[in-house]
Amino acid sequence: MPPAWVRWSFVLLLLVLAAPVASAEEAAQRQRAAKKPGASKRLIRVPGGERLRTDAARAFQQMHAEAQQQGVMLWVVSGHRSRAEQRYLYRLYRKGLGPRAARPGRSNHQRGTAVDVSVGDVTSPAYGWLSANACRFGFRRTVRSEPWHWEYRPRTTPLPKPGHACSDRYQPLPPVPAPAEVATPSPS
Ligand SMILES: [Zn+2]
Repeated sequence: MPPAWVRWSFVLLLLVLAAPVASAEEAAQRQRAAKKPGASKRLIRVPGGERLRTDAARAFQQMHAEAQQQGVMLWVVSGHRSRAEQRYLYRLYRKGLGPRAARPGRSNHQRGTAVDVSVGDVTSPAYGWLSANACRFGFRRTVRSEPWHWEYRPRTTPLPKPGHACSDRYQPLPPVPAPAEVATPSPS
């Protein structure tokens, strides 16, 4: 029987060797799942009836529910579009009959990861809520001229610091002004 420290070193060595193998296997499983045809491309409905890619739809459903709890309705105007739908919208846009639309094949609406939310303008409660919260769900704005267009990009949408709103990243709070000097009453 080898002394205890030899046995324990052996166990430790096994653990160290096994750990990277296990995590590599997990990563490979995730990759295989992602590569399964149609696995992540499946579309499901979000509140309002439009459809989004499964991962984007699940994130949107959570976001929609939280907004609703806080009294804000996120009305979806447009989600996934087929190539034909995108082509139609692009033609309208080119004829000056519709809002800006990307060329067919260039829109993330065709991937099911873009969603248009009825926000009115940037002073509306819906827009204010989205700009403060959407990043926590992996959504962010990607087109400067379209405050209604939000895309699901969880990998490149950083979370806010704890206790901060998503919008804090874009609009840092102004520095606190130094307190005004209190005027000393002049003797009269
Ligand atoms: Zn859009």
